[in-house]
Amino acid sequence: MNVLVEKLITTHSLTTEEYAALIEERDAASAEQLALAAVHARRQVYGNAVFTRGLIEISNICKNDCLYCGIRRSNLNCERYRLSKDDILLCAEQGYRFGFRTIVLQGGEDAFFSDAVLCEIIAALKEKHPDCAVTLSMGERSRESYQALFDAGADRYLLRHETANRAHYEALHPAAMSFNNRMRCLRDLREIGYQVGCGFMVGSPFQTAKTLAEDLKFIEDFRPAMVGIGPFIPQKDTPFAHEPAGTAELTCFLLSVLRLIDPTLLLPATTALGTIDPQGREKGILAGANVVMPNLSPVTVRKKYALYDNKICTGEESAQCRGCLQRRMESIGYTLVVDRGDVRR
Ligand code: SAH
Repeated sequence: MNVLVEKLITTHSLTTEEYAALIEERDAASAEQLALAAVHARRQVYGNAVFTRGLIEISNICKNDCLYCGIRRSNLNCERYRLSKDDILLCAEQGYRFGFRTIVLQGGEDAFFSDAVLCEIIAALKEKHPDCAVTLSMGERSRESYQALFDAGADRYLLRHETANRAHYEALHPAAMSFNNRMRCLRDLREIGYQVGCGFMVGSPFQTAKTLAEDLKFIEDFRPAMVGIGPFIPQKDTPFAHEPAGTAELTCFLLSVLRLIDPTLLLPATTALGTIDPQGREKGILAGANVVMPNLSPVTVRKKYALYDNKICTGEESAQCRGCLQRRMESIGYTLVVDRGDVRR
């Protein structure tokens, strides 16, 4: 067996230089060895269960201008929308009936969703569905804000770090955004007591084996409960419109590496992975992922939450999304479970 693969399987850790070499020198054989070990490690902790999260995209209005993102402020071709509290509660209600026990509220950094507004929504969700976890993915906020949302009942927070390399971060974001603030947010979230998810795009412009190795080392040190990774996919109205997309192959390779770094991680097989490859989500699960996040947003807004081009599942009703994923998971020997899907540590 490849010596780096063997070291990762036995010690759950490599040096940054070793991670970079593992990535650069990867081949079909090392990918398969890693995937087998990753699936084995996941089975010890989570069996054959795949957790689901119902994703509600509550707003595509955003004050930020991330160079890769289709809902960036400068994109005048993006038709903006925002869901009301009633819309959100209705989506959650349907999701609950379909078997979701985690509701994820994701959106751009839309000032309308002040602490007061979000706290009221979180409290209403928790009151109606006390057996559900509420996950937020609403970008960078102050520590006080994160604390207020936590006190209102939010359980988890997803904030991808995007890249652990400062220069790379600066190449993906406008000068108004700072790497230090992103990291500050992640530390605050963890200290407050959230189950925290970080993550990055695979194949983003300027990414190298070295920056990916730094991402892996960061994750090893930070010990998040979740890591969301998916291929970068260009969006036609962004400065990165003509950059090449990331691959399902490297995404799956990194999912296996992440599973071995921490067998208890919650690792989604993302919609972006399913977009770049029709079998992407199945491949992700077979590489070591254990979460899928189908879309619960109203069909009327789905196409407008266009972070990248050709996003899948933008025409289907929520019930269809769950049914489709259930069949897909069963076809590869896994089951979608009705469960909050908390991290097992
Ligand atoms: N405003 C929230 C939610 C952002 S959208 C936040 O800041 O966390 C969620 C994730 O989608 C981002 O973190 C980014 O990693 C990913 N994303 C954005 N544009 C993308 C693209 N073009 N291709 C693939 N993923 C993208």
